[in-house]
Amino acid sequence: MADCLFCKIVGGDIPATLVHTDEHLIAFKDINPQAPMHVLIVPRRHVASLNELTDTDDALVGEMVRRAAAIAGENGYAGRGYRTVFNCNADAGQTVFHIHLHVLGGRALTWPPG
Ligand code: 5GP
Ligand code: ZN
Repeated sequence: MADCLFCKIVGGDIPATLVHTDEHLIAFKDINPQAPMHVLIVPRRHVASLNELTDTDDALVGEMVRRAAAIAGENGYAGRGYRTVFNCNADAGQTVFHIHLHVLGGRALTWPPG
């Protein structure tokens, strides 16, 4: 997707602070962090929102969730806890229409979310 911000980060056209890359995923620090750790896990392949996922994406989503746990653990937050969030469309505040899993940790997060 030529006009997609996260496709441009995946392609290296826009810089980001990468914390993980592999065949299917990249992970990088959010530019506007909402917690001491705020990482976005992004599939290399463009998928606009959770609504566009199909059963062929089940393994990809599993990799994203397990990578979130791994990154939280690497940052020392496995025991104390962390939050993972997929925002989908307007009411959830999705602003970048290429799916991404937020991983937030390092402070006590409130519930319910805003
Ligand atoms: P959403 O609101 O779509 O769930 O989350 C999009 C996230 O992308 C936001 O937390 C925002 O701060 C982050 N973001 C937007 N533009 C950039 C960018 O150019 N670089 C990085 N690293 N993060 C970005
Ligand atoms: Zn994209």
